[in-house]
Amino acid sequence: MSGSRQVFTVNTLCLDGLRAAEVVVELQHAGGLMQRIIMTGLPGGAVREARDRIRGCLEHGELPVPKRSILANFAPADLHKEGNGFDLPLAVGILALAGLVPAESLAERVLVGELALDGSLRPVRGALALALEARRLRKRALMLPFANGAEASLVDGLRVEPVRSIQEALLVLGGAPAPEPPTPVERRVPAPDLADVLAQPSARRALEIAAAGGHNLLFVGPPGTGKTMLAQRLPGLLPPLADDDVLAVSALHGLASGGGVIVRHPPFRAPHHSISRTGLVGGGRPLVPGEVSLAHKGVLFLDELPEFPRMLLEALRQPLEDGVVRIARVGRSAEFPCRVQVVAAMNPCPCGYLGHPRRGCQCTPHAIFTYRRRVSGPILDRFDLHVDVPVPDAELLLRGPRGESTRDVAARVATARALRPEGLPSLDDASTTLLARAMGRFALSARAATRARLVAASIAALDGRVSPTHDDLHEALSFRLGLHSLLAAPSPGEVAS
Ligand SMILES: [Zn+2]
Repeated sequence: MSGSRQVFTVNTLCLDGLRAAEVVVELQHAGGLMQRIIMTGLPGGAVREARDRIRGCLEHGELPVPKRSILANFAPADLHKEGNGFDLPLAVGILALAGLVPAESLAERVLVGELALDGSLRPVRGALALALEARRLRKRALMLPFANGAEASLVDGLRVEPVRSIQEALLVLGGAPAPEPPTPVERRVPAPDLADVLAQPSARRALEIAAAGGHNLLFVGPPGTGKTMLAQRLPGLLPPLADDDVLAVSALHGLASGGGVIVRHPPFRAPHHSISRTGLVGGGRPLVPGEVSLAHKGVLFLDELPEFPRMLLEALRQPLEDGVVRIARVGRSAEFPCRVQVVAAMNPCPCGYLGHPRRGCQCTPHAIFTYRRRVSGPILDRFDLHVDVPVPDAELLLRGPRGESTRDVAARVATARALRPEGLPSLDDASTTLLARAMGRFALSARAATRARLVAASIAALDGRVSPTHDDLHEALSFRLGLHSLLAAPSPGEVAS
């Protein structure tokens, strides 16, 4: 029997987080008449199960079922092969051994897909990440399930071949044109409008400054004053995502949700304080990004900040500093980006009503002190703007003018972002003196002083100026120094009010 020892190789990818490793499936007939498919090269559980799925699907599809044993080796041998995408390359390799696939058609392609017993292809998780990796690895074509075609086709410079079944895969490998990928569907959640937030001029101002400079923002105020409403309106003030960011953010969301999501606007994520560490920063098997990475290029909102266990906030510290989450894996580490803007909200005291004009606060000074101390200094130091959100005046709420709309404020923010210079702005003499005095008097860290200068630059840019003035810096510091009082115990006067 000539050619019985011929080896066919099929290229595929093994996804681990956002990255993928190249895997080659090598197939040849093995000795014996047992009709077994022998697998070597660390196939995971799902890959080993592919054997029976493929046999079932070949029988069902009236395709030749191997009459002799087949050896399928997955290389490199030291990489664990996890995931459900190995069915298609394995089945195609088996059919190549049966003479149904031209060997040269396999050379330039990467194949990924899970087979159903009727021969149809089920979508795989992380198709956009796979397509990005296929391009990075300079592959010319990616054959994958039709349902994944839309998101994969977002990647330029890669031929995407979405196929519905193993039969259609055979036709395309034989030279037939692949079906056109479906048009990507954008899932658009209408952004709430800033005009809905009445009163709260100081908080609105802080929100606009934060949008102009990408600053982290902390709202402090009693329940029901609109802290969450304000936070939800920040993404609407930010510019739409750049093309590369659309791909990166959509790939992250595809990994978490199964795929098919195209994100063109800055995301907003609001994890509850009961979330697990893995849910917040990512991890697990299969490896999925956490909320902090799902907020990449958007807003991470931490409501009721002191209720977050300290362990969770500490787990966020390094990722927020570096803009990337590193997750240790066996023998290597995976990364998910997380360049986010953090908005947090907290009550002024455990009962929430400290400083409320009509409801009395029931908390002891010690309880208030303990509550505020739950958020560590280094975490609070990450917030460039700290804003009191007081109970609004009833008259203003009922008869006051509607606030400015998201569209108007976003236009100002876009102009400011274009104007705002990169890096630290220079200060005039008066501003330098002011900053030095504030650093001395309030024991501001060098980091805090730097952040205040950057906030001043955002304030200046919103006013159409490149360099901040003394007044800009004064306003920036006024937003900063609220932190100072938060870190200290409340004064007796404050508790009495
Ligand atoms: Zn209280």
